[in-house]
Amino acid sequence: MLTLLKPELEEYAFAKTSTDGALLQELTAETYEKMEVPQMLTGRLEGRFLKLMVQISSAKRVLEIGMFTGYSALSMAEGLPENGELITCDINPKAIEVAKRFFARSEHGRKITIMEGPALESIARLNGSFDLAFIDADKANYTNYYEAIMPLMKSGGVILIDNVFYSGEVVDPKSKEAKAIAALNDRVSQDNRVEAVFLTIRDGVYFIRKK
Ligand code: SAH
Ligand code: CA
Repeated sequence: MLTLLKPELEEYAFAKTSTDGALLQELTAETYEKMEVPQMLTGRLEGRFLKLMVQISSAKRVLEIGMFTGYSALSMAEGLPENGELITCDINPKAIEVAKRFFARSEHGRKITIMEGPALESIARLNGSFDLAFIDADKANYTNYYEAIMPLMKSGGVILIDNVFYSGEVVDPKSKEAKAIAALNDRVSQDNRVEAVFLTIRDGVYFIRKK
């Protein structure tokens, strides 16, 4: 599990967070069985957090960049009303195949639309505005995603960005990915279009509100 906390504290926080239910647990098990980098799946702590964010913001339209096998998408869809909509982007056909099977088994799956292909191309095709967005795809493109979705966000809309600690590497970034995330973090913290809190849960989650 990606965490900067002592393992026993991460386990404690996990245990004191609401359960994610049998279907998401099965999705997690299958992801760990079949996928090469299963640790990318957000998991119970962050998944329940995302669901609550969708609920307390009364979001009706959600955009996700980076679906993987669908754990975070299905978690957020649970928090949407019956007529809510979640659009999610990914390029990995194997991950999309797994996600589709699990969405079909959930009462919330019909709220989800998958856009297959490079996310920047998918974002360019989107119409209408969004109440909440979750960015969690290829880290090198984070700033591109942030700028591409900004005009699509409603005033008061929420943007959540995952892995903004990048395992702690952002403090002294060396890899291309760490540098890209550090650059995004600098931009967000100085961006007067938004208000932002850098949440230290899991691998860091940026919590941003568009003014
Ligand atoms: N949110 C997911 C985890 C996402 S992992 C969860 O909670 O389970 C990152 C995902 O981004 C991977 O599935 C990968 O295929 C996808 N990705 C990488 N580059 C992409 C791109 N250019 N466009 C769309 N998706 C991309
Ligand atoms: Ca992530």
